[in-house]
Amino acid sequence: MRIYGPNSQGIQNSDPDVSVYANFTFVPMIPGNISITAQSGGVGETLKLQLYRIGMGTRMYSSFGNEADVSMNEIIDYYGHDDETKVIMVHIETLSDPAGFLDVCRRVTPKKPILALKTGKTKEGVAAVASHTGSLIEQDTLADAIFEKAGVLRFHCQQEMIEAAVALSTQPVPKSEKTVIVTNTGGPAIIAVDECIASGMKLAKLSESTGKALGELLFSEATVSNPVDVVATAGATEYGGTVETLLKDPNIDSLILNFVTPPFVDCEAVALRLAEIGETAEKPIVCIILTIEEKFGKVIRLIREGGIPVYDYPESASKALAAMIRYGKVQDREEPAYQGHSSDKKRAEEIISPHRGTDRFLPQTDVFELLQCYGIPTAKTVRIGTREELTTEAGKLTYPVVLKVDAEEVVHKSDAGGVALNLEDEGSLLQAFDRMSGMFGQYNPAFVLQEQKPAGMEIIMGAKGNDGLPPTVMFGLGGVFVEVLKDVQFRLAPLSQQDAVAMIHSIKGYPILEGVRGAAPVDIDKLAEILTRLSGLCCDFPEIHEMDLNPVLAFESGKGAAVVDARLKIRGIG
Ligand code: ADP
Ligand code: MG
Repeated sequence: MRIYGPNSQGIQNSDPDVSVYANFTFVPMIPGNISITAQSGGVGETLKLQLYRIGMGTRMYSSFGNEADVSMNEIIDYYGHDDETKVIMVHIETLSDPAGFLDVCRRVTPKKPILALKTGKTKEGVAAVASHTGSLIEQDTLADAIFEKAGVLRFHCQQEMIEAAVALSTQPVPKSEKTVIVTNTGGPAIIAVDECIASGMKLAKLSESTGKALGELLFSEATVSNPVDVVATAGATEYGGTVETLLKDPNIDSLILNFVTPPFVDCEAVALRLAEIGETAEKPIVCIILTIEEKFGKVIRLIREGGIPVYDYPESASKALAAMIRYGKVQDREEPAYQGHSSDKKRAEEIISPHRGTDRFLPQTDVFELLQCYGIPTAKTVRIGTREELTTEAGKLTYPVVLKVDAEEVVHKSDAGGVALNLEDEGSLLQAFDRMSGMFGQYNPAFVLQEQKPAGMEIIMGAKGNDGLPPTVMFGLGGVFVEVLKDVQFRLAPLSQQDAVAMIHSIKGYPILEGVRGAAPVDIDKLAEILTRLSGLCCDFPEIHEMDLNPVLAFESGKGAAVVDARLKIRGIG
């Protein structure tokens, strides 16, 4: 016998052959193609209610509560196998089995979108969850990384999630970000433009033949560019004809229609025309109707019956479209292929094995060698024990060189005076050595001697082991402001080259990497490759508890990058 719940608000299945209504609620059940599973019955009801209000039903519904036995992951898996479920909406307070969630969602999301709302993000919210149904406190960044890896579209607002679900359940997925806006009134189109651009969409450039056709079709006051302003006097011929023409344009992959209902236009005729178009259109269309429902309710109904989602605000329509584009990218993702890189796993094992269970930082030279085993470029680094070793080893490097203290106690070496840069000759090297030997004598430290790398952009990369989940990989802008700006991104390993490039693109400071104020762009491909190699290393050795490469110096495009500082700790055995 399976147990469902406790603290569950029941299930529904609107399939006419099943028609189960086993929960306490007031939202009438009508068949639809969106299935919902919610930890909270209250949230689940809200989602259903809002769909019902716009005349849409649901396929299946479940509020899984505390998962004593039947789990959310099983329910998602079940919805994933249900052909009539086109979109899955999930509300989560606690991910009780994150690894299982990742596994199930990765199988489902290439086939159908999963939209998730994960609540309890603030410290106060987590406390509220804990006293309610939740039991596990997680870091929200880890949740983000899990969703990203799973291909789940995360939302932070119920309304936005529902609006996206409506678009995804009625419209095909756009092939690209290139969209066109059609309007019969100016202002809302500008809002739509702003929202589209902010969401990463692009305004399509109309092809020549489209421009010509619209010029012939529309009134002379109309604007034949993007946004296309057909003007308020446009009727079914002009509005409908414009949409048909734009659908045929190969430069355009989606349409946003903004329609205010003018009293001097036969608005129902426009709606009928749009509904007809909507039934066969192969590109996604979203629509904003500015009207008074008491009078023009039929206009809205007709368009919805044509399968076109209708929104009240241009912001909503644009965001729904942006969510579809996000889903398109999930579908286009390639399988992570970090395994493709060559690595010397045997030597890496030899380096790591003496440190297993120590819960201590490795000597820096061990970390550098480990990185080299995975093809991660580093500054040439040698370990120095004595003053004699220093002079012989320095003879093998070209000046200028760098001398650093290597002691577990000295975390921020340069702050403590433990980094000497620009050492031009043996004299200054020995002087630096003597100074540091005195300064850090109490720790009985080792030293590292490094070749000095040319100036580069300071990048931070890192990794962290997770219990029962793949490791998290970090990327961001390094340097002295890293703690303040916190411009870092986290992803779960393994990373494909494509994942890594996307990760790099997603930091706020990305334009800096591309080169600002005359600076040359840095070698982004190489940085991405290093991330995939780092991900490979951490997947092979999940006992790596934490690792910080700060900085990785990134040189200009084509010139690669080099790690000049690295810290790594192996997990203590519990
Ligand atoms: P810490 O972070 O412990 O203070 P680092 O080894 O990162 O010490 O050194 C501090 C800074 O010195 C780095 O952020 C970098 O700007 C510079 N630096 C360190 N090593 C090198 C090197 N080999 N070549 C060029 N610059 C270096
Ligand atoms: Mg550093």
